[in-house]
Amino acid sequence: MSKTRTRFAPSPTGFIHLGNIRSALYPWAFARATGGDFILRIEDTDLERSSQAAVDVILEGMAWLGLTHDEGPFYQMQRMPRYKEVLAQMQAQGLVYPCYMSVAELDALRERQMAAKLKPRYDGTWRPEEGKVLPPVPEGVQPVLRFRNPQGGSVVWDDKVKGRVEVSNDELDDLVIARPDGTPTYNFCVVVDDMDMGITHVIRGDDHVNNTPRQINILRALGQEPPVYAHLPTVLNEQGEKMSKRNGAKPVTQFRDEGFLPDAMVNYLARLGWSHGDDEIFSRAQFLEWFDLDHLGRSAAQFDEAKLRWVNAQHLKAMADDALAPLVAEQLARRGIQADERLAAICGLFKDRCDTTVALADWAARFYTDDAVQPSAEDRAQHLTPAVMPAVAALADRLEQLTSWDKPSIAAAIKEVLAAHGLKMPQLAMPVRVLVMGTPQTPSLDAVLALASQQKILARLRSA
Ligand code: GLU
Repeated sequence: MSKTRTRFAPSPTGFIHLGNIRSALYPWAFARATGGDFILRIEDTDLERSSQAAVDVILEGMAWLGLTHDEGPFYQMQRMPRYKEVLAQMQAQGLVYPCYMSVAELDALRERQMAAKLKPRYDGTWRPEEGKVLPPVPEGVQPVLRFRNPQGGSVVWDDKVKGRVEVSNDELDDLVIARPDGTPTYNFCVVVDDMDMGITHVIRGDDHVNNTPRQINILRALGQEPPVYAHLPTVLNEQGEKMSKRNGAKPVTQFRDEGFLPDAMVNYLARLGWSHGDDEIFSRAQFLEWFDLDHLGRSAAQFDEAKLRWVNAQHLKAMADDALAPLVAEQLARRGIQADERLAAICGLFKDRCDTTVALADWAARFYTDDAVQPSAEDRAQHLTPAVMPAVAALADRLEQLTSWDKPSIAAAIKEVLAAHGLKMPQLAMPVRVLVMGTPQTPSLDAVLALASQQKILARLRSA
């Protein structure tokens, strides 16, 4: 069998969102799972709507998620000479013909067809046939080029998602593949690219399913066997509408900024339209081991941010502290905080209670800056009572005497103060937590204190 070749072919006309990037994830995974190649192609022929900023988000988002490509990015605008070359070749072979029908004539034709309750379609006026006399060529009109679609019969393919699809050729009129100025149209560029790039599997959104029979006919006319197609159902947003930038979908890179992990995103997106039994949480390696085109979902998938957070939390928990630390350091750097070698241990202590690296950075920040410790008035009133403050002061004094700042020494100091003041652990631990971390809910106190600097702890205990 020949090597698998898949592609992601985004149009950089808006910031790429989760629904779009899933159309990159599956072809990437299929190429990786089968030892094939994954090609990135930027479909930038819509000059008015395409932007470099949108290309940047595509490249950045894919790099962040680790969806590496083996070839490309190819830009369609740079391939114009090639499209024109294939057009010329098709013209020479009689596979296309010039059509001089004006826009006004086309409109009139459409109106007549609609009035007669017929599907609007080009009627073949300029299609050359044996023995047919074509109308006289109007002067000064640049023609479009139309593809001679086969007549009779049908186009059939076994879609990996939709199953067998059959479209009668009578439903397809002769597609315009070059505009009057000679520029190729969208469907034609896609066909030439898929042919030249040797694509074996086209995995894309099902908004393209109507293009497929036309693309297959053009490919066949060029002497190519069509690739395997998988048309993925839409991704809906939380309101059940088609996910799009217009209705508030976030650019993919925003999830990075909000503290989501690439592996968790891959896991979540993988499940948004594909399944491996009941497995919900899996690693990138497992996903690549399991991914196939036979378990793609047939119905639209709906984005659910709470679920994504849950998946992220599971990955966060499972991640090694050393691997997590640089990601949290990045989040801290955005806040102007420079982390140090304690960060991995801080991640280890707090990761179980966090669902993003942003939440983890919220905790870590408290070890580095006093500004991040802001107890609420309620917590102050409830926990910093006159009855307990002398014990807090005594603890500060006792901790000041410690020459080695570690968990056992700190635990012993706390114990001594509890005994001396006749208090139970929570009675002292709550006010201390409020003062040193800004909240009464923290992991075990000695562990928290051991990771903080002695000097900062003393200052905070004495700040009340
Ligand atoms: N450029 C198209 C899009 O962004 C995809 C075309 C294709 O995958 O064939 O929707």
